[in-house]
Amino acid sequence: MSHVFPRHSKSTLLTATGGDGCYLIDSTGRRILDCGDAAVSCLGHSNARVIKAVQDQVAKIAFAHTGFMTSEPAEALADLLIEKAPGDLDRVYFVSGGSEATEAAIKLARQYYLETGQPERRRVIARKQSYHGNTLGALSAGGNAWRRTQFAPLLIEMTHIAPCYEYAEKPEGESAHAYGQRVANELEEEILRLGPETVMAFMAEPVVGATLGAVTAVDGYYKRIREICDQYGVLLILDEVMCGMGRTGHLFACDYDGIAPDILCIAKGLGAGYQPIGAMLCTRHIYDSIAQGSGFFQHGHTYVGHPVATAAALAVVQELTEHDLPTRAGVMGDRLQSALELAFGQHPHIGDIRGRGLFRGLEIVASRETKAPFDPSLGLAGKIKKLALENGLICYPMSGTRDGKNGDHILLAPPFIIEDAQIDELVEKLSKTLKTVIPE
Ligand code: PMP
Repeated sequence: MSHVFPRHSKSTLLTATGGDGCYLIDSTGRRILDCGDAAVSCLGHSNARVIKAVQDQVAKIAFAHTGFMTSEPAEALADLLIEKAPGDLDRVYFVSGGSEATEAAIKLARQYYLETGQPERRRVIARKQSYHGNTLGALSAGGNAWRRTQFAPLLIEMTHIAPCYEYAEKPEGESAHAYGQRVANELEEEILRLGPETVMAFMAEPVVGATLGAVTAVDGYYKRIREICDQYGVLLILDEVMCGMGRTGHLFACDYDGIAPDILCIAKGLGAGYQPIGAMLCTRHIYDSIAQGSGFFQHGHTYVGHPVATAAALAVVQELTEHDLPTRAGVMGDRLQSALELAFGQHPHIGDIRGRGLFRGLEIVASRETKAPFDPSLGLAGKIKKLALENGLICYPMSGTRDGKNGDHILLAPPFIIEDAQIDELVEKLSKTLKTVIPE
């Protein structure tokens, strides 16, 4: 009997015993194509450089508390991230994962406004159908009803505007540009409704991952969001925990939109699964306001800037940048999109095939005409996940929430080292799975 607390008490988990490139290997020796363990594995499972970096660092020093000491890999990683980061991002705060990054971002925004003499700024605006993590602050920012409901009495009050979700929510007859501007302007309306002097931050995922399945914003949406934030002095926090670190074909997802946030959260691909690590990057201005004010960010976790985790991430970012793997993710992502369109473009229950880079989503609908989702009680996402695994494929199917109605989608996020043959294997295994779960 296992004493590990499982996510689902009724499911029996496979035991992972090995990894080889894009494949995970279980205790029976079966090779399973890993196309979306929540978008973590960007370099595959056996990258020699990252493995060596971890081994070397753990042999030197595994841990030193950042209250007393910094470490060489933490410093080098921060330098490299800042060299590549957009805009004025200038300081890096290392944490152990995505939720810690978004929590830290919310607290930093609050402290920034305290230090700059605007203590009434305390409200965060985020978006419906978003996910920013599972700790209580991050969960408060998330707008996914299914994840929030049980914990609602414990959550911090935050408000949620509509996401930019062209496929499901753009009315026919409205241009994509006009739609993008209109939904971006909801941010301005919400700031004015709450009172600009009370709003400290707006948080969003540049490409929505877990809750919608690789939904990109229409061009111009984020430019308008940036303008609105600047106009009202609201900090823009971008959550690139899932879509960052090259996954969309750009090292940072917001590079595509041509904007830079005030605070940027990254995780998953940063450690590529070799170590648990996330980071929050902030502008020099935000950092200076605290450095020249109280001098102390009132926050912290024991494992901030962990030497082994930062050594792994340093090797990951070196691999990504020296081999230009984000560009490869863009090229292979386009091939994956074409292969998915060829296989499912005419499928009566696949309404949309979308995404950017190696971050792709398929939306499952009962009717392509009305875009209505299937009855949630059918539990399609769960069935797809289970059968795909039996067929040797890890993908990330989920039930989203479209204004209270569940819609199912499948997120695909393979490693950037994926080859053409593995794209074919992915599409074949997915076809076989969908044929059983949602017959044409
Ligand atoms: N933000 C986003 C956009 C995410 O996708 C996730 C994880 N799925 C998180 C935050 C939380 O990250 P973690 O699970 O590492 O706490």
